Amino acid sequence: MTRPAACGGRGYWQQRADVVVIGTGVAGLVAALAAHRSGRKVVVLSKAGNTATFYAQGGIAVVLPDALREDGDSVDAHVADTLAAGAGLCDPDAVRSIVADGYRAVRDLVDDGARFDEAVPGRWSLTREGGHSQRRIIHAGGDATGAEVQRALDGAAARLDIRRNHVALELLHDAGAVTGVLTLNEDGLGIVHAPSVILATGGLGHLYTATTNPEGSTGDGVALAMWAGLAVADLEFIQFHPTMLFDGRAGGRRPLITEAVRGEGAVLVDAQGNSVTAGVHPMGDLAPRDVVAGAVDARMVATGDPCVYLDARGIKGFRKRFPTVTAACEAAGIDPTRQPIPVVPGAHYSCGGVITDVDGRTELAGLFAAGEVARTGMHGANRLASNSLLEGLVVGGRAGKAAAAHALTAGPSMAQLPEPTTRRALPRAELQQAMTRYASVVRDGDGLRSLAQGLDAAMPRALNSRTDFEDVALTTAAGAVAAAASARHESRGCHHRSDFPETDPAQAVAAPLVSDARSLIPAVVCG
Ligand SMILES: Cc1cc2nc3c(=O)[nH]c(=O)nc-3n(C[C@H](O)[C@H](O)[C@H](O)COP(=O)(O)OP(=O)(O)OC[C@H]3O[C@@H](n4cnc5c(N)ncnc54)[C@H](O)[C@@H]3O)c2cc1C
Repeated sequence: MTRPAACGGRGYWQQRADVVVIGTGVAGLVAALAAHRSGRKVVVLSKAGNTATFYAQGGIAVVLPDALREDGDSVDAHVADTLAAGAGLCDPDAVRSIVADGYRAVRDLVDDGARFDEAVPGRWSLTREGGHSQRRIIHAGGDATGAEVQRALDGAAARLDIRRNHVALELLHDAGAVTGVLTLNEDGLGIVHAPSVILATGGLGHLYTATTNPEGSTGDGVALAMWAGLAVADLEFIQFHPTMLFDGRAGGRRPLITEAVRGEGAVLVDAQGNSVTAGVHPMGDLAPRDVVAGAVDARMVATGDPCVYLDARGIKGFRKRFPTVTAACEAAGIDPTRQPIPVVPGAHYSCGGVITDVDGRTELAGLFAAGEVARTGMHGANRLASNSLLEGLVVGGRAGKAAAAHALTAGPSMAQLPEPTTRRALPRAELQQAMTRYASVVRDGDGLRSLAQGLDAAMPRALNSRTDFEDVALTTAAGAVAAAASARHESRGCHHRSDFPETDPAQAVAAPLVSDARSLIPAVVCG
């Protein structure tokens, strides 16, 4: 690393790579490994400790090859389930491309050291989750799948150049092509020059007061892409997981009670013991997440209770099958084998993001995105459970290869230090309260207008620290969610408008957004 080098009186460090990967979750590390194995010099940046990948519980949805299957599952069935959950907004070709490549990507992960639970030696144990018509979810450590995925990838990537505590602040580009990443570390500002950059920055759960996401999920990738002039889409579709542990704490990351608990027979009831989902959907407690989250939200409104309950007392061997859930419950003073678990819906997953193709390519030459930050068309208006690790594995690997190939043809790049920028931010607590009040499980036009007015009060903030940057990124991402939710005058997937409760067939199209330099609320791209 060269540092500091004078530039217009400002010192900054510099680094060179063929491919820069931003993020060390499933998408980032799979991409980095693929680029490295293609012979390119890779630098990986990560700002935070734990990733969302680490916390994933339920598993990875994957269709096994015929020879390894005993049931009637097929790529067609998995595609059909994904399209049904996506409520008319998935790109069917993208879904098929990713689902059909799933087993290969999982085998690569096994080659990198991941071990999944087996029903009998040599045969993976398969579970079922909401919206899946078949048992096709592989898992590890019972309900610690993400920890195993992360452990395996961290091990495989140990030989890579991984820079922790490095915050990507800005995507640098020139003449329609990416040239590097402006980065902040303990030495101050620096540039990693590279002709290929892969955004793998994960989600944006911390837009809300309470979320299942780790502290680093602050919408950075969406903001970075929008500041670079790229379009984002489907950001109105934020998935609220129906069963986040209600432990009485005010906010921040809260434990998830994986959907697989319902897959194994647990039922959602209110304080009177009445089913929460009876009569709501033919699949009952295993209906798609938006349906179950909406039912939980409606029951809490109707009863005035602060939570509903997940009764898992009938599941045999609960502690062994769900050690992570058991530990989280016990830490909150709840024994899930003897008492129903109090749960509420919590901000969990961003179905939308930076628009890419199924190889992670964005519209800016050399810029790729994969994982939760990307919008490939896989999830549409609602992600099917356990499809995100799958997408991260498949598209992460493809993006790594494509970025490596691009770097080879583009050759070395030279990025320029940009002029200092101030962007606008709301104080985080204020932003989270406004988002939780106006853009949660159920929204309406008046609330979204209030949200937009609140965002207008955001004040300029210099980017002197990770917190400054995250507040700015959150505020930009909130503007995009507000714009997307305001523009969609219907209810579809995980976007529920109380003033437009019906689904409107005429609106079965994605509405890309581009940022407007004058406003925090981006414009919808028409046509
Ligand atoms: C509790 C929980 C349970 C889940 N269970 C499942 C499940 O069972 N199955 C499933 O398929 N999905 C599950 N999901 C969703 C899934 O885990 C995530 O969507 C997926 O892991 C995201 O992977 P990713 O690589 O895109 O991002 P992440 O794993 O979140 O990684 C993001 C990385 O980007 C870095 N980063 C972010 N911004 C910056 C920046 N500005 N500069 C530098 N670095 C940055 C972070 O430090 C981190 O390293 C779950 C999610 C949660 C939270």
